[in-house]
Amino acid sequence: MANARATHSVPGADARAELARAGLRCTRERVLTLTTLARVATPRTVEELSALLGGSVHRVTLYRTLERLVGGGVVERVLFPDGLLRYEYVSTHHHHVTCTRCGRHVPITFSHARMNDTALRVAPDFATVEGHTLEFYGTCRVCERAAGGMSGYATR
Ligand SMILES: [Zn+2]
Ligand SMILES: [Zn+2]
Ligand SMILES: [Zn+2]
Repeated sequence: MANARATHSVPGADARAELARAGLRCTRERVLTLTTLARVATPRTVEELSALLGGSVHRVTLYRTLERLVGGGVVERVLFPDGLLRYEYVSTHHHHVTCTRCGRHVPITFSHARMNDTALRVAPDFATVEGHTLEFYGTCRVCERAAGGMSGYATR
């Protein structure tokens, strides 16, 4: 369990270079979407992204664009305990620990390089496994203190 801390800061990501790296054609929508995701550097829902883009990309196109970016490996889907699917720009693959009380989340990395291969091995009906989502949740120290050290389920 090395590399306990990941980071969400991605200074000056070059969207065009990233698209090329992902083997994706440069389109206006892809450059806009990737640039915006890299700038906010935190996972966002399609609705939040749409608002950030000021409606310059149609919702359906935005969704399709995001899925293409996911396919290219430059964006990942994140499902937090609130049940909302978010997308984030990933310079390096990582996961998150989310507080179920206040929603605060921090990025984490740990060594699990062969997880996709493992999934593929135990799922013989699948030809490929390209990725995974794995999210951790618990109570942050601030919330733990506020609750007087009592642990329990969130009601948020
Ligand atoms: Zn992973
Ligand atoms: Zn908290
Ligand atoms: Zn992240």
